[in-house]
Amino acid sequence: MRTVIGFIIKFNSLFKNLKIIRYRYINTLNLSLKACEQHGLKAENNRDFSPKLKGVSVGLSSGTSQQRGVFLVSPCEQALWAGYMIAKNITFSFRKKRVALFLRSNSNLYESASGLLIRFRFFDLTKPFDQLIEELEEYNPHILIAPAHVLGVIAQHRADIKPEKMISVAEVLEETVKEQVEARFSCRLGEIYQATEGYIASTCSHGNLHINEDILIVEKEWVDKDDGRFVPIITDLNRHTLPIIRYRLNDILVEETAPCSCGSQFTHLKRIEGREDDMLWLPDSNSAKLTGIFPDLIRRAMYICQTQVSDYRIEQNGKTITIAYDSDDTKQAEKDIATTLAELFSRLNVDKLDIKFSLGIDHDMMKKQRRIACYKKPNCLD
Ligand SMILES: [Zn+2]
Repeated sequence: MRTVIGFIIKFNSLFKNLKIIRYRYINTLNLSLKACEQHGLKAENNRDFSPKLKGVSVGLSSGTSQQRGVFLVSPCEQALWAGYMIAKNITFSFRKKRVALFLRSNSNLYESASGLLIRFRFFDLTKPFDQLIEELEEYNPHILIAPAHVLGVIAQHRADIKPEKMISVAEVLEETVKEQVEARFSCRLGEIYQATEGYIASTCSHGNLHINEDILIVEKEWVDKDDGRFVPIITDLNRHTLPIIRYRLNDILVEETAPCSCGSQFTHLKRIEGREDDMLWLPDSNSAKLTGIFPDLIRRAMYICQTQVSDYRIEQNGKTITIAYDSDDTKQAEKDIATTLAELFSRLNVDKLDIKFSLGIDHDMMKKQRRIACYKKPNCLD
């Protein structure tokens, strides 16, 4: 038995897909991946997330990786999650708090957290956005939870609401979006970092992110120890329907070594950098190797770009980088972006690749927004 567990533990941290390949053997209800996926897809299509499979809730992750994440949560795990989430994010009050959730798909998970003192309402992003804004204004939530870019759009719509707290979920929260949303609603914007695999980190009362090390064991696979970048390997202490044991996430986090003023001893994070496949890969100028460019460096370069680029997406496909953008001054914007990136690449000692520009961005609310993504690395021997 020890050998078998050792095998699973060792390989689970190495191969993320093992869970997919051996799904039936890894979940404790002997459910097949196919049955779970069909159940999850049916709920998505019918927009009815209440039916359960063998007594457990099935959810599909909204990730953009080729493998769809399927998570299983029992009523007991659901109650634990709800209690933990509320304790971490909502201060106790005898006044009933209204919580608005803007998500791509609902699940029993969220609505199970409703009770005497808290009401959750799910805002379905498949509906027209103007209608959602109207409903949101009528609901006037105390707490607003939404993906980062949806919060940005709500702020741009100048929705007439007065939230006490806002929380960004499911996407990288960029500093520019954070500032814009906080300024619009005069309210601090926190973060919940939750993956299909678990509730990993949340913002403390002093506005800093901490890993939830009271429910998780997190090992660090260092990407760059000097600047604190690591990939987390997580073990969730509360999950038993679909145990998460030494599970390697596809994200890069950045550790802050200075203690947080809130006094928490849990790992303090500077930020969530993004997914590993958000890194661009360019040929090293001095060797036949590829160098990975962290998305944060690209974001900062775009931030200081001379021309006002209101939004952008950067995608790498082999030797081509495509940049879609929104700007009033297209000619100048393209020139400035090219110059800014050329300066960055030269500083990092990497060769330039072909850059193609396209005006206009697909703002589909149902798509998980990734500002920077690498779909295919170049072959540097070409
Ligand atoms: Zn703190």
